[in-house]
Amino acid sequence: YLHLLEKNNVFLDESQADAVSETKGSLLVLAGAGSGKTRVLTARTAYMLDVEQIDPHSIMLVTFTSKAAAEMKNRLLSYPQMKKEKINQLVTGTFHSIFYRILMYHDAQNWSSNKLLKKEWQRDKILKEAGKELNLSEKEFAYDLALQQIGYWKNSLLMPHEVKPATDFEEKAVFLYRKYEEYKDREGHFDFDDMLIGCYKLFSSFPSILEQYQDRFHYFLIDEFQDINKVQYELIKLLSRKHKNVCAVGDDDQSIYSFRGSDPSYLLDFEKDFPYARVVTLDQNYRSSHEIVSTSNQMIAANKIRRTKKMKAQFSSRMPPALFFPYDEEEEATMIVTDLQERIANGASPSDFAILYRTNAGSRAVFERLASSNLPFKVDLDADSFYDRYIVKCALAFLKISLNEDDNQALSDILPFLFLKQAVLKDIKAISILQDFSFLEAISHLKTAHSFQEKKLIKAVTSIRTLKQLSPLTAIEKIEKDIGFLDFLKKRGNESNKLEKGSDDLKDLKVAAKSFDSIDALLVHAEHMSAMNKEIKNLSKHFTEAITLSTIHRAKGLEYQGVYIIGAVDGSLPHDFALDSYRNGDFTAIEEERRLFYVAMTRARESLFISVPSNRRGKKANRSRFLIPLFKKRK
Ligand code: ATP
Ligand code: MG
Repeated sequence: YLHLLEKNNVFLDESQADAVSETKGSLLVLAGAGSGKTRVLTARTAYMLDVEQIDPHSIMLVTFTSKAAAEMKNRLLSYPQMKKEKINQLVTGTFHSIFYRILMYHDAQNWSSNKLLKKEWQRDKILKEAGKELNLSEKEFAYDLALQQIGYWKNSLLMPHEVKPATDFEEKAVFLYRKYEEYKDREGHFDFDDMLIGCYKLFSSFPSILEQYQDRFHYFLIDEFQDINKVQYELIKLLSRKHKNVCAVGDDDQSIYSFRGSDPSYLLDFEKDFPYARVVTLDQNYRSSHEIVSTSNQMIAANKIRRTKKMKAQFSSRMPPALFFPYDEEEEATMIVTDLQERIANGASPSDFAILYRTNAGSRAVFERLASSNLPFKVDLDADSFYDRYIVKCALAFLKISLNEDDNQALSDILPFLFLKQAVLKDIKAISILQDFSFLEAISHLKTAHSFQEKKLIKAVTSIRTLKQLSPLTAIEKIEKDIGFLDFLKKRGNESNKLEKGSDDLKDLKVAAKSFDSIDALLVHAEHMSAMNKEIKNLSKHFTEAITLSTIHRAKGLEYQGVYIIGAVDGSLPHDFALDSYRNGDFTAIEEERRLFYVAMTRARESLFISVPSNRRGKKANRSRFLIPLFKKRK
C-alpha cells in the first residue's frame, strides 16, 4: 500500500511509514514544523481504512480548525482507491464540532442551536449586565479580558466555585463568571466552551452513555496536540480508556494558545497517561528550504522550556530569509505590494503568498494597499475592518459630528466620552427640536447636576466645532487632548493590568490619517474600507487564487511558497504585554511570542521576508529582539 501511495506522489520516509502502518496501541509523533505530521495522520487514516479495512465509524479524526478538517478530507479523497462514502463516515472535525454533535444527539441539555452565544458581543452583553451589580463601568472595565479569562477557566474545567482569584481583576472576573453561568442556565443559552464541558458532564454523569462511545470509538487521531486544553484532553482520556488507541501529533514549539488554556505538557507528558505509547520523532523538514529551517531553528533554540529537536532540510533556496527596513507601516505595505506585483507578473500565483501579522489591527496598511491594487486577496472571516474597531469608530464619530452636527449615530457613539448616559439622547433631541439647535449645540445646553460637568460639556462642544478646520491628524490629536480620550483609555487599561488596547488603535489611526488632507477624505476612506472589508470577506469563501492575509495564529498548520512577516519589532512581536510580564520577571509570555514567530517563519517554503519598520504607530521602533542574534545588524 505504501508503495501504491508513492506511485501517487505521497512519499513517506522510514519513520513516517512506521508511524503510518503500525496501528496497534497509542502513538505519539513529536516533531518540528514541516516534518510531515499532518501527512502522517492523513496517511495513517487512509491505511486503516484501506489496508486494515477498519470501520470508519470507529475512527475519530480531530483537527484544530474546520478548514483543516476539510483539507484533510480532500487529501484523503485524492488517495488511491479511496471511497468517498468511507471518508464521509469518518468522525472528523474540530473538538467543538464533534462533541457538539454527540451532545445534540443525546439532547442532554435541551439546547437549540439558536441559543448558541456565537458572537463575542452577545457574551459581552451578559457580562456587562452582571457588572452593574459591582458598579463596574461599562466602558472602563476590561470586559474583553474578563471574557478571555472566563474562557480560560472553563477550558481548564474550573467551575466558578473552584476558582481561586489571585488579583483584584480576577476577583471581579470570577463574580462575572458565576453570573454569566447563572444567566445561561436560566435562559437556556450556551457558548462554544459549553459544548465540551457539557459532553464531559454527560459522560461523567451517565456511565452507560460513556460506555457506548468507548465501545464505538476504537481510534483517535489528533493533530496539533500541543494546543489541546484540559477539557479536551480529559474527554479523549475518558473515551479512549477501553481501546487505548490514541495517535497524537504535535510540536511543543508551536504551542500558541495558552491564553485559551492550551497546555503543551499534555503532549510532552503523553506517556504518563498513555503508558504503552510508542514515540516517533521525525527529523526531516520537507516543507522549507535549508536556509529557512536553520534560521527558524536557531530562533526557537533560545527558548528555555522546550524539547530540542534535530531538523534537516531537503533543499536549498535561491533566496535566504531576509529582513527589510521600511520607514513605517505605510511604506511596509507599499514595498510588499510592489514586490508581490512583480512576482505575480513574473508568473507566480497569488495563492503562493501569505502576509502574516501578530494582530488583526496590524494589517490595516497592507489591507488598504492591496485593496487599491488589482491583486486578489483574502482575509480572516473574524477580523473586523480596522475602522470598525471601537476606539477608532469613536474617534471618527467626533470627526463626523464636526462636519455634521446632527449626525445621530455619531452622537450616540461619543456620549460615553462626554460621560453622558445613552438615556440623555432623548433630552438632547428634545432640546434640539424645541430650541431649533443642532444636536451638538443641544449638548452644551443640557442641564446636568454638576456645574463642573456643564463646563466640561461646553468645552467639549467648542472643541469639536474647531475640528473641521484642522487636518485629520491634528483633529485626532485635539480629540485626544481636549476630550480626555487618553485618560479614558488609561483607566480602562489599568483595570486589566494590560496595556490599553484602544490607545494602540488610536496610534494606528493617526498613522493612517497622515495620508489625508481633509477630514472628509479620511471619513470617505474609512467608509470605503469598512465596506470593502465586508465584501472581501464574502468573496473570500470563493477565492482560491488569492494572496492570504492572516494572523499568525490562524496560519498554523498551513504553508505558502512565500511568506511576508510584517511588524517584526518589539511591542508587536513580541507583543507589548509579553514584554511587560517579562519586565516583571515572568518569561513564559515572551517564550510564547517566540513560538509564534517560529510558527510564522516555518509557514514558508522558499522565500521568507521579514519586515522591520523603523517607525510603528508614529514612534521609533526597535527590531524584534528575537531577530537580533540571527541577522547581522543593518549597515
Ligand atoms: P506543521 O508542524 O507546520 O503542522 P507538519 O509536520 O504537519 O507541519 P505537513 O504539513 O504534514 O507537516 O508536511 C509539510 C510539507 O511536506 C507538506 O507539503 C507535505 O506534503 C510535505 N511532505 C511531508 N512528508 C513528505 C515526504 N516524505 N516526502 C515529500 N514531501 C513530504
Ligand atoms: Mg501539521
